[in-house]
Amino acid sequence: MQRTALITGVTGQDGSYLAELLLDEGYRVVGMVRRGSSPNYHRIEHIMDRLVLEQGDLLDQVSLIQILRRHRPQEVYNLAAMSFVPTSWEQPVLTAEFTAVGVTRVLDAIRMVDPTIRVYQASSSEMFGKVQEVPQRETTPFYPRSPYGVAKVYGHWITINYRESYDLFAVSGILFNHESPRRGLEFVTRKVTYNAARIKLGLQDRLPMGNLDAKRDWGFAGDYVRAMWLMLQQDKPDDFVVATGEQHSVRELLEAAFGHLGLDYQDHVYTDPQFLRPADVYELVGDASKARRVLGWEPQVSFHELVEMMVEHDLKMLEEKIATGRPPTID
Ligand code: GDP
Repeated sequence: MQRTALITGVTGQDGSYLAELLLDEGYRVVGMVRRGSSPNYHRIEHIMDRLVLEQGDLLDQVSLIQILRRHRPQEVYNLAAMSFVPTSWEQPVLTAEFTAVGVTRVLDAIRMVDPTIRVYQASSSEMFGKVQEVPQRETTPFYPRSPYGVAKVYGHWITINYRESYDLFAVSGILFNHESPRRGLEFVTRKVTYNAARIKLGLQDRLPMGNLDAKRDWGFAGDYVRAMWLMLQQDKPDDFVVATGEQHSVRELLEAAFGHLGLDYQDHVYTDPQFLRPADVYELVGDASKARRVLGWEPQVSFHELVEMMVEHDLKMLEEKIATGRPPTID
C-alpha cells in the first residue's frame, strides 16, 4: 500500500528536499502551505505536479485536524516554523506561537485523529546556544540564546513529553545548520555565496556583515533530510543529533566563497552593527555518532563542497539572468 506523508513547511529549504526524497521513496506527499497574498512555491515548482498541497496553519488547530482527517498520513514531518533567529527578537510571541506552541497543536491533532501516526519534530542546534559541552550531543544541556532557541527547546520537550505521556511515535531531530542553494538569502551562508557572486560579476562591490568569529557546523540540507526520514523508519522513537562534526567560522566561509571566485573577501566585506545580535551563539559543533551508529547516517557533502555548490549555483543563476536581460536579483 502506498504510504502518505504530510510535510508542514513544504515550501522551505528542508521541505523541498524532503518532498523530493519521499517522492523517490514512493510516498504520496501532502504539503501544508500557509495562505499568503503571493505564493512562495519557487523551491517546489519542479515537483508541484507530484505533490498534494493543502492550506493550513500551525496557528489554526482545526486546519491541522482537517488535513490529517482528509489524508490519513502514516508520517508527519513538522518542518514549519519561524526559522530566522534575528526575527525572533522582533516578534518573540509570534515565534513562540509557530515554533513552540505550534508543535503542541500538531501533536494534539495527531493524538485526536490517529495516534499511530509517526511524527518528526525539527529541533535545532540553536537549543545548545551558549554551549555547555563540546561537541554537543543528545545529552548536552540546552542554553538557548534567542527567542527562537527558547521556542525550539519547548518544541523539543513537548515532543518527548507526548511520546512519554501518550506513547506516540514522536521523534526530535537536533539538526545543526544545514544549507544549500535553496537556503534563504538572509542566512549567512547564502548571503555570502550570493553576494560574492554578485561582486564577481561587478553588480556590487561591498558586503556588510555581522560577527565574523561565529562558528558553525554547516552541512548540506539534502543529506540532512535523509536523517529525518530514517528516524521515522526505526523500531523505536528516539532523538538524534545530526551534524558533520566539523566547525568553521563565518570568516572561513567568506574565505572559501570569495576564494573560489578568485577574490579576497577583505577587499569587500565590512562590519555593520545592524547584523550583530543582542545575544549570539558563538560556536556550535555536533557529535552525530549516535545517528551514525543507529541510523547508519553519514553526511556526503563537505564544507568546501557545499560552499562551492552554492557559489556555483548563484553565479550561474545571475549569469543566466544577465544573459536574458532579467534583473540580476532573486525572484
Ligand atoms: P543561525 O545559526 O540559525 O543563526 O544561522 P545564520 O546563518 O543566520 O547565522 C549563523 C551565524 O553567522 C550567527 O552566529 C551570526 O551572528 C553570524 N553572522 C555574521 N554575519 C552575519 C550576517 O550578515 N547575517 C547572518 N544571518 N548571520 C551572520
